[in-house]
Order: sequence, then C-alpha cells, then structure tokens
Amino acid sequence: MSTLAQKRALVLGGSRGIGAAIVRRLARDGADVTFTYSGSADAAQALAEETGAKTVQSDSASRDATTRTVREAGPLDILVVNAGVAMIGEAVELDPDGVDRMIDINIRSPYHASVEAAKTMADGGRIVIIGSVNGDRVPFAGGAAYGMTKSAMQSLARGLARDLGPRGITVNVVQPGPVDTDMNPADGPMRDVMHSFMAIKRHGTPAEIAGMVAYLTGPEAGYVTGAMHTIDGGFGA
Ligand code: NDP
Repeated sequence: MSTLAQKRALVLGGSRGIGAAIVRRLARDGADVTFTYSGSADAAQALAEETGAKTVQSDSASRDATTRTVREAGPLDILVVNAGVAMIGEAVELDPDGVDRMIDINIRSPYHASVEAAKTMADGGRIVIIGSVNGDRVPFAGGAAYGMTKSAMQSLARGLARDLGPRGITVNVVQPGPVDTDMNPADGPMRDVMHSFMAIKRHGTPAEIAGMVAYLTGPEAGYVTGAMHTIDGGFGA
C-alpha cells in the first residue's frame, strides 16, 4: 500500500543497518526517498539501485554539510535522523576527540537537521530521530558518553514538538534496544550480557525498527508527538 505516495523523505545515514532498512521501508511505502552516507559508497550505491532512492555523500559531523543536504533535499515531508556512532568504553580512557565527534554526529546534527528541515517542511510533516534505550538506561559501564547523546534526543523531541505542533508537524524519537547491525552484531562480545537483561532474548532486526518508523511517518500518527518509542525486547523493562 502506498501510504507515503507524494511524500518527500530524507534519511540521514541510510547506507547500512537500521538506516538502510528505513530507506527500504519508506521507498516501499511510496515515498520519494533521498538518503545520505559518509564512508560506505558501495553500499549506498547498491541500495539506491535496489530501491530507486537518491543518495548523497554528506558527513553528519559537519553542520554545514548537514544543513546544505537538508536544504537541497527539501522541502521535506519526512526527515529521519538515523546517522549515529557509538563509542563505548571507560570514560577515563575514551579519546576525547572521538567523544566530541560523537557529540557532533549524535547531538548537533539531529538538532541542526531538524531545525533546518522545519523551516520549509510542509504542514503535517514528520521528524523521527533514532535514539536508543540507552537514553533511558545505561545498565553497564562504559556507556556514559553514548547514553548522554541519546538522552539529548529526548529533550530535542519534546521541545521541538511544541514549536512545530501548530503546523501539525510531529517530532518523535525511536529508541531501539540491541539490533543486529555492524554497530552491534548479534554474535558480538556483548551478546550474552545484553540478552541477560532482556525479556525477549535476541537482537532485534533493522526491519522491526523500520516498521515503527513507518508508523510514525505515516498518516495514522498525526496525534503522536514529543514522545519516545522504545522497541527493545524488554531491555529496559
Ligand atoms: P551502523 O553502524 O550499522 O550504521 C550506521 C549508519 O549511519 C551507516 O549508514 C553510516 O553511514 C551512517 N553514519 C555514521 N556516521 C555518519 C556520518 N558522520 N555521516 C553520515 N552518515 C553516518 O549503525 P546502526 O544501524 O546499528 O545504528 C543506526 C542508529 O541506531 C544510530 O543512531 C545508533 O546509535 C542507533 N541505535 C543502534 C542500536 C543497535 O543495537 N544497533 C541500538 C540503539 C540505537 P556510512 O557507513 O556511509 O558512514
């Protein structure tokens, strides 16, 4: 069913993992999709050919690149900010430059992209940011900086929802638990620790996360805004 026909969508960070599943799902639902990548040119090209989406190289660590990309892809009906990196490790040992780069990608980019999109976004538009269950809970050592970046998405959504509500634009955060991607492979070293916290003892699939994004970007979700939508197999239950 083409629930997103005539909708123009931009997915920041769409070349791999959860972002690629979101690109596939929005394209399948009829949207005119553009997605960005940073380093994975071959994967981006293959996904563009598979889905008919347009792709553009744009580093989410750069505010100028992000706002230019949003401007050029717009005016948008749908913005999904998925690009993210995870630096996990003891706080006293993490490279501060790497932490600052994570802050640029995980916090500054979602803020500036959302605001830039909002300038020209159609009434009734949709902004979805991929946060993390670690925005709510950090049940292991080494997650301070990453968890901080994902908690920041919560206030961004709450505040921006109020700014944009008069135009019928919704702003939501999807908070996955462990999802089987390059970032967090289902057979990785953290698997048993993570599964021990969970009600459903498996990693989620990127397609499961994309399904929630499809609902939030779709026509039935116009009354859902300023909210966090956790999809984590009970990780945080
Ligand atoms: P992956 O590492 O598998 O993929 C990351 C995607 O983001 C790639 O398409 C990558 O593009 C893109 N990206 C990363 N940095 C940049 C950048 N500087 N500029 C543009 N694009 C960039 O991660 P996941 O799919 O697992 O994660 C996606 C999102 O979901 C992230 O925000 C992550 O924090 C969040 N998340 C993931 C969980 C998990 O368990 N997997 C759990 C909770 C949240 P490229 O390769 O081209 O650089």
